[in-house]
Amino acid sequence: MENLEKAIQEIKAALPGMTLLENEPLSAHCSFKIGGPARAIAVPSDVSSVSKICCILKEHELAPFMLGNGSNLLFPDEGLAELFIISTEKLQRLFLLPDGAIYAEAGVSLARLASFAQQNALAGLEFASGIPGTVGGGLRMNAGAYGGELKDAVESVVTYYLPAQSLWELNNEECAFGYRSSRFQKAGGFVLLSAVFRLEKGDEHEIAARMQELNTRRRDKQPLDLPSAGSAFKRPEGHYAAALIDEAGLKGLTVGGAQVSEKHAGFVVNIGGATSHDVYELLMQVRRTVYEKSGVELEPEIVILAPDYKLEDHGPAVKRNQMVFTVGAPEGGEAQER
Ligand SMILES: Cc1cc2nc3c(=O)[nH]c(=O)nc-3n(C[C@H](O)[C@H](O)[C@H](O)COP(=O)(O)OP(=O)(O)OC[C@H]3O[C@@H](n4cnc5c(N)ncnc54)[C@H](O)[C@@H]3O)c2cc1C
Repeated sequence: MENLEKAIQEIKAALPGMTLLENEPLSAHCSFKIGGPARAIAVPSDVSSVSKICCILKEHELAPFMLGNGSNLLFPDEGLAELFIISTEKLQRLFLLPDGAIYAEAGVSLARLASFAQQNALAGLEFASGIPGTVGGGLRMNAGAYGGELKDAVESVVTYYLPAQSLWELNNEECAFGYRSSRFQKAGGFVLLSAVFRLEKGDEHEIAARMQELNTRRRDKQPLDLPSAGSAFKRPEGHYAAALIDEAGLKGLTVGGAQVSEKHAGFVVNIGGATSHDVYELLMQVRRTVYEKSGVELEPEIVILAPDYKLEDHGPAVKRNQMVFTVGAPEGGEAQER
């Protein structure tokens, strides 16, 4: 805590013109509309300011928490004594490279990226136009929908790698993408700054029509009128999480202000005043019941930030990769849990 306070003072001195929101409610920065105060949220104006902040934090043995659109996160009601770096305000550069690939900074929304691709008659990102995340958040979890995944379109990613305190450009293979996962998720220390997307030439009208079709399907099926963090659970092999939850009779199950959506059983929605504890409790009830009824262990897709909350205390499975608060890797590059 003392280190964090010192680092915040140094960051203020090093970047005097930068907006630094202090004790800012996290509920204002996530799609669930849940979460207490963050100690500080930095709004850097460019990637070199991000590197500077990371460098200062590293000197104090700290790591930043990167924040995109907050559309895959559940923050604790108690808040978090962390320094967040938000990408969505300024890290917005998006342009076509001379060889026809797209360069996008981490804070560019996936909707804007998909729309830019369509305007340039580039096909392959139609699936991403309705995902409410950013390039940074999307690449970290290899976001996908309707058969498409970001891994199929991304050529390379530039990150600030904390253990080495330097920039690192990774090619697609080095990102180790998997289903809703990547190297950035499994190991700490990667701050995603930008990416290059290589797409196929297509017909701009056909691309626009496909985007529209997918977004209509999304609107028809998903509870987009209520705060949520998207699909609550990953798709278990050979099953669909929503179907298992529905078959277990859990649609509409409510804990406080959190509810298994009546419209789509795969979503947990905030029907008003939900706390993070309501959501945790509901997720764990769903998990237990689905396991009892079908023998299938559901793994949360939402990044749950609750340092003391352990999945194994709440169900049969021991799968913790979504339940830990991953911080910057030390020298040597392994992720740390706390
Ligand atoms: C209504 C709704 C529908 C959704 N539909 C889909 C869907 O169809 N498919 C799908 O895959 N997801 C879906 N999601 C989930 C979510 O939109 C995606 O996971 C998205 O990629 C998250 O991006 P974000 O910018 O909001 O990340 P955040 O929620 O801000 O962050 C998520 C994680 O990424 C990390 N992160 C963010 N930016 C960076 C960065 N620059 N560098 C390093 N780490 C970073 C954060 O630290 C955090 O751990 C949906 C969510 C909602 C609310």
